[in-house]
Amino acid sequence: MIELKSLAEIERMHTTGQFVAQILSELSELADVGVNLLDLEHHVRSRIRQRGARSCYWDYAPSFGNGPFRNVVCLSVNDAVLHGLPHDYALRDGDILSMDLAVGIDGWIADAARTVIVGTPADDDLRLLRATEEALAGGIEAARPGNRLGDISAAIEAVATYYGYPINTEFGGHGLGRTMHEDPHVPNKGRAGRGLKLRAGMTLALEPWFARTTDRIVFDPDGWTIRSADGSRTAHSEHTIAITEDGPLVLTRRLPHHADLAST
Ligand code: MG
Repeated sequence: MIELKSLAEIERMHTTGQFVAQILSELSELADVGVNLLDLEHHVRSRIRQRGARSCYWDYAPSFGNGPFRNVVCLSVNDAVLHGLPHDYALRDGDILSMDLAVGIDGWIADAARTVIVGTPADDDLRLLRATEEALAGGIEAARPGNRLGDISAAIEAVATYYGYPINTEFGGHGLGRTMHEDPHVPNKGRAGRGLKLRAGMTLALEPWFARTTDRIVFDPDGWTIRSADGSRTAHSEHTIAITEDGPLVLTRRLPHHADLAST
């Protein structure tokens, strides 16, 4: 079932979204050569505590994963792309770091991910990052009342195809609001003009992610960390958006003067 949100509810998700955007910006600044992933995890923990927010990841226990998740941020390095467990690892020059964060504030959730290159970027990695960001922008642009879910998927797919990156369809975007995962599932591949009709009040996390040379994934023994099956490097971009009568509103794009920042 898809729960349509009122403008007031969307505004509350926007407040959460601004906090998520702020933390991802802070992590992007902090992520540098020699910085340990556990330092980033602890930064997020203290920011969540200060803000009185709730981590959506802590104790998350879906059908995959060995036991509940005991971290507040997903940090995935190089060939790891989704659900990376923060662990004792010092970032190296040229690493690709994907950071995915979902929190709730006063019961309303926002979820976003950003990928950065630590230190000196390689051209191939910049290209991969650009592709996920353009795919996300394309998906957002298609998220309008009257369009269909397949228009979002097709827009994401078109960018991947243009860049020549294969697409895995096991993990994609999702509805969200009071909980982290709601209907519908938003595949990163699909046919324009097909599927669910998009309506104002839908709130979605769109999240293209690509590996350079494979659409296959493997799980680490921890049951969480997902890597490209061939070890090729990966990137992931995600925003929480609301579909409004006026078009898509990106709730996790950082605004310089959003009111909520004054209290964080
Ligand atoms: Mg996410």
